Amino acid sequence: MLPREDIHNFADASLEIILKFDDHGNVLYANASAKGELGYGEELTGISLDKLLPAELHLQEGGFSLEAALQMTEGMMYRKNGTCFPVQMAVKQGSGQNLLFANNIAQRVETERKLVRMKEEMEETLKVRNEFVANVTHELRTPVNGIRGHVTNLLENGVSGEVKGTLDIIIRCCDNMSAIINNILDFSKLEAGKFVIEEKEFNFYKMVNHTVETNIPAINGKGLRIMVNIDKTIPEYLIGDELRLTQILNNFLSNAVKFTSVGYINIEVTKTVQFDDEIELFFVVSDTGIGISPEEKDKLFKSFSQVDASITRKYGGTGLGLAITKQLIELMQGSVHLDSEKGKGSSFSFSVRLHVAQKEKEENLVSEHFEFINQNQEMPGYDNVEKFFQFGTPENVQEIQGKMEKLILCMEVEAWDKAENFAHNIKELLEQAPKDLKRAAFRLEMNVRKADHDKSVEQYESLKAVFEEAIGGM
Ligand code: ADP
Repeated sequence: MLPREDIHNFADASLEIILKFDDHGNVLYANASAKGELGYGEELTGISLDKLLPAELHLQEGGFSLEAALQMTEGMMYRKNGTCFPVQMAVKQGSGQNLLFANNIAQRVETERKLVRMKEEMEETLKVRNEFVANVTHELRTPVNGIRGHVTNLLENGVSGEVKGTLDIIIRCCDNMSAIINNILDFSKLEAGKFVIEEKEFNFYKMVNHTVETNIPAINGKGLRIMVNIDKTIPEYLIGDELRLTQILNNFLSNAVKFTSVGYINIEVTKTVQFDDEIELFFVVSDTGIGISPEEKDKLFKSFSQVDASITRKYGGTGLGLAITKQLIELMQGSVHLDSEKGKGSSFSFSVRLHVAQKEKEENLVSEHFEFINQNQEMPGYDNVEKFFQFGTPENVQEIQGKMEKLILCMEVEAWDKAENFAHNIKELLEQAPKDLKRAAFRLEMNVRKADHDKSVEQYESLKAVFEEAIGGM
């Protein structure tokens, strides 16, 4: 055993407060840290622990209780000058001599208190911000709906062609504005963790059909093709948040339409897991559009991020859609993935977990009522997409001829918005063509953009002639 002096030397070197006391609570020895922290000199020896830890030990009526002292783990230790500090303690019992080890945890407690205060402040700021967002978006929604309503009235009362064009643009602007307002509101709710996923019964096939249907005008307007394939083993009635699932699917689909000018959009839905009434569905939305490079991929799914500023100018949007979609998918216990190659199209896939409803399956409903679902057309892989753009391939020629037919029709009925899309498609499809053809396609697009009927028809005929000559000679 070490001599007492050595033990005291070791104890004095410790940063911890060490006190030795008898069974009556009288201090027999105090190390240097104890004296320093408590502001005592040698007189600390002989003092009762009651005085140092009054709150903890005075709780026991009838004075010092060794039993109570042995229970102490945390408390307030008092200095000679009456000030106090929080400590963490351990008390060890010996025969007639006991040891108390204590650490001053004032700094830790203060840090914890600061953290709690910061968290409360952050929560308060977030709350104020969310209330502000909720109020502002509500205030914005009212006038936007008002404008839209009045313009719809004007359109219903019959207006001239030119005015109708302007009013249509106003309606489209209102719809864009409403979509942005909804996105901001959703984003703020998701951030505040206030988003609740509903659990209601819905018809899954109807939901997909409706989502596709709302995008059909845009798909047709751009002359794209769409295919939808749903695994027939998916029950018709499911339980989940129909509105949010629609929002997720619609976001991928409308992006696919927005960023594709030639080719196809394909939607596939398969059942990956079904256990009892739980079901996991796997969706793939692929397109033959502009694609996304690996560097750009990392930026996606983050709020307010679009792959580059030119995208915002050309296609609009807030860059909130995918960030919201990703969080919604995660709330439905799923995940999202992107496969893409710049210039060759994108394929977004995601899974969600839903429940199967108890309802009977209504036979044949799917095939009878859903025109877009399970159309068995061949969807070309990414490799084939190149053939669209490679001048002179059968795919390229056929695509150009198709677009030319649609273009002349649109020009004849003066649907200039659509005509501009087709003229743009044709120009893209002729990207690898000889110079004279490329120039003709460029001039055609310019005239169509100016909505100049006569010049557009003239330019159309001239492009057609050069095109037929070029492919005739191939
Ligand atoms: P936004 O509301 O602006 O469309 P999103 O979050 O939905 O925002 O999309 C963010 C960006 O991701 C888009 O601006 C675009 O650059 C890119 N993106 C999304 N979907 C596609 C797609 N199918 N093809 C190419 N780029 C895409």
